[in-house]
Amino acid sequence: MTGNSEALIYQRLRAHLAYLKLTDAAEALPRVLDTARNQGLGLTAALEQLMAVEVGAVETRRQTGRLRFACLPEPWTLDHFDFAAQPGVDEALVRDLATLRFLDDATNVLLIGPPGVGKTMLAICLARAAVDAGHRVYFTSATDLAARCHRAALEGRWNTCMRFFAGPRLLVIDELGYLNVPEEAVAALFQVITQRHLKGSIVLTTNLGVASWASRLGDPMVTAAMLDRLLQRAVVLGIDGPSYRLRTHQARTDTLRKAVGS
Ligand code: ADP
Ligand code: MG
Repeated sequence: MTGNSEALIYQRLRAHLAYLKLTDAAEALPRVLDTARNQGLGLTAALEQLMAVEVGAVETRRQTGRLRFACLPEPWTLDHFDFAAQPGVDEALVRDLATLRFLDDATNVLLIGPPGVGKTMLAICLARAAVDAGHRVYFTSATDLAARCHRAALEGRWNTCMRFFAGPRLLVIDELGYLNVPEEAVAALFQVITQRHLKGSIVLTTNLGVASWASRLGDPMVTAAMLDRLLQRAVVLGIDGPSYRLRTHQARTDTLRKAVGS
């Protein structure tokens, strides 16, 4: 083969890669060909290297897309969670949850406890693990979910809204019950929970003990039905340890006190 025809083939190969939008492979082509030549790589090995570049780039893009879609409020992973500081958390259980087996059979996870004990943080860590494992995840507060459903109902987009919340493999609903929960919020929540029931997991954080749901969420029938569905397949993690927020606050106060010598 003349150098000229080899150059022609090379140009066509670049054009094929560009046409197929394999831009990262196209960019890596000269490098991979050089390596193949210098190291005497066979055709299979060289092709594998080239495709691995493209697969890696696509995977990175998808991961970025999933992470953006998930709307996680913080970049936390389980490595950031200090188990020693929170004796109220069952570490073995959390680590088991982080394997994401619970997603396989649409098990829900309820994180229940007073403010500051790390409920939202754990929810974010589980959500992040799911994103990293390639799942579609969406994080929302209970208030935002309700507001969004309410607006959708007013604008005649209720079904679209329900489909949206049914879509992700994992839905995180943060902070149920901090404010008084209005009737239409409970209705929206009920619909979302019903739609996802046994189909897709929900991680829900709340300061309301299950026993107080009926009195705090209004209509006891709706609440009972909602709890039924949520708890039919669920892991309930009660966290009643010390508040991490107050702990750091306490430490700061102590340091200040020492500094002023009181
Ligand atoms: P909750 O949702 O229970 O009110 P958060 O998850 O928002 O509590 O935690 C409050 C703050 O304390 C956050 O900044 C969180 O990162 C931090 N925090 C809580 N628990 C831990 C922990 N065990 N290790 C590290 N940081 C923690
Ligand atoms: Mg919280």
